[in-house]
Amino acid sequence: MFIDLHTHSAHSDGTDAPARLMEAAAVAGLEVVGLADHDTNTGWAEASAAVGRTGVALVRAAEITASWKGSSVHVLSYLHDPDEPRLARLMADNRNLRPRRARAMVAALSRDYPITWEDVMAHAGDPKTVGRPHMADALVTAGVFPHRDDAFAGVLAADGPYYVHLAAPEPLEVVRAIRAAGGVPVIAHPFISSRGGIDDDAIAELARAGLFALEADHRDHTAGQRARARRLAADLGLAVTGSSDYHGTGKQNRLGDGVTAPDVLERIAAEGRLEVLWPG
Ligand code: AMP
Ligand code: FE
Ligand code: FE
Ligand code: ZN
Repeated sequence: MFIDLHTHSAHSDGTDAPARLMEAAAVAGLEVVGLADHDTNTGWAEASAAVGRTGVALVRAAEITASWKGSSVHVLSYLHDPDEPRLARLMADNRNLRPRRARAMVAALSRDYPITWEDVMAHAGDPKTVGRPHMADALVTAGVFPHRDDAFAGVLAADGPYYVHLAAPEPLEVVRAIRAAGGVPVIAHPFISSRGGIDDDAIAELARAGLFALEADHRDHTAGQRARARRLAADLGLAVTGSSDYHGTGKQNRLGDGVTAPDVLERIAAEGRLEVLWPG
């Protein structure tokens, strides 16, 4: 089975509407796709409605922003109850932080580059999911850079001069809230932070708190980082996943670039409160 459990739609910083994402997944030959927009579940309804037509099964998910010693850590949540209050509140708090933090970054950027808050919002749509990718889009539209990647490589980098940290909750709280909502927590791309990221001891603590897996196969992980994730997962009794982290045209990542094994999906389905939505 061809399974890609981590993709983004235009409900966060991807460029495809959820239905279009499902169509692209069918074209790519995927049998199961996970829609994991940043800090929101709002893309689920449209993606769910496209399951029958596209023949692609849907795993309803979200990628939740956490903060650890000044680094952003992303925790994927699979098949959580969207109405469970603790997790819903945590995700809402993250959404409320985003426009404030983005305004601070855009105010600094607009002193040196020809972009305004309105330009950034034209790309973000919803202010509650605004992030650096939309600032990158505004810089591309203004002709400063040819692609999002070029903006991220310098101006928008986490160790760059315009960066403002998103003061999200700690990964431990995020993992506990996900489990409280019947979700299955997985650390996304654990080793790609340019600010150090989360260390092995903190991951061990998350494992004790109910973490399910580490995402090992990810385009931005080197072979060494993938091996390190597999070793650490084996040591801690965690599963491993692989995913594309597809963002439409917003990133080079192609659907199916990373895949998750069927037995790992089975365990996610068994532990998650929601069902995987299968076609037919
Ligand atoms: P933020 O949450 O606002 O700090 O932005 C982080 C987001 O930027 C992540 O969700 C990534 O999807 C996105 N991102 C990181 N690097 C790149 C890149 N090189 N090109 C496009 N998007 C990126
Ligand atoms: Fe993203
Ligand atoms: Fe991420
Ligand atoms: Zn992602």
